[in-house]
Amino acid sequence: MKKREIGIFGGTFDPIHNGHIHSVIATANHLAIEEVLLLPAHIPPHKNNVIADSKHRLAMAKLVCQHHPLFTCDDRELQRNRPSYTIDTLNEIKATYPLHTLYLFIGMDSLLSFTRWHRWQDILTHCHIVVSRRPNYCINQINDETQELLVKHQVKTVATLKSHRAGKIYLYDQTNFAISSTNIRDQLNEKANRLSDLPSYITHYIKEHQLYYSNK
Ligand code: ATP
Repeated sequence: MKKREIGIFGGTFDPIHNGHIHSVIATANHLAIEEVLLLPAHIPPHKNNVIADSKHRLAMAKLVCQHHPLFTCDDRELQRNRPSYTIDTLNEIKATYPLHTLYLFIGMDSLLSFTRWHRWQDILTHCHIVVSRRPNYCINQINDETQELLVKHQVKTVATLKSHRAGKIYLYDQTNFAISSTNIRDQLNEKANRLSDLPSYITHYIKEHQLYYSNK
């Protein structure tokens, strides 16, 4: 029987880039997870400089799903006209998939700020957390609360992770993409031509809709 496992990957995706796509693909392959929900945040709680409208960020996420069968686009955060808290999203997904094991995929920068997330203490009751490495963000920078969280919840092997239904944290350090949406927006704003950090279909969408070209 097929395993019931789903990855969950949320973000502002302003725009979505190769760092997002390929770190998740590599991590999902490593964990043998066959489906990842891609969830653009409508109102990201910790960002006040979102440039592209949600409808464009969703459209770009949908393009990624068309090109990579691993991903399924999920627009549920756009249906809520309030801050896009991960705990609310997890509650809803758990209600839809009560028998599945959920794996929340985040980058190292998100782990470093995790204790600022809304109701962060509740998140591990619904899912595991899988953390991808990201250049310039190092595990040594975690605060005391996150350190305690790791002492309690970190597991070192995929087998141990998979032997639990939720509540574990796994650090996957085999990805290292020096790519950020901020950097891409800056390049677009400076009319850079070399946009190798984006899939060509996303570059095309951005050009077609003239996103990010004058955001300063
Ligand atoms: P910005 O530069 O605007 O802050 P970002 O590139 O960090 O954006 P987000 O949409 O904020 O992208 O990130 C969504 C999720 O993807 C977060 O969990 C983040 O840690 C992760 N992520 C983003 N870029 C990378 C990357 N290069 N490698 C691994 N994870 C990443």
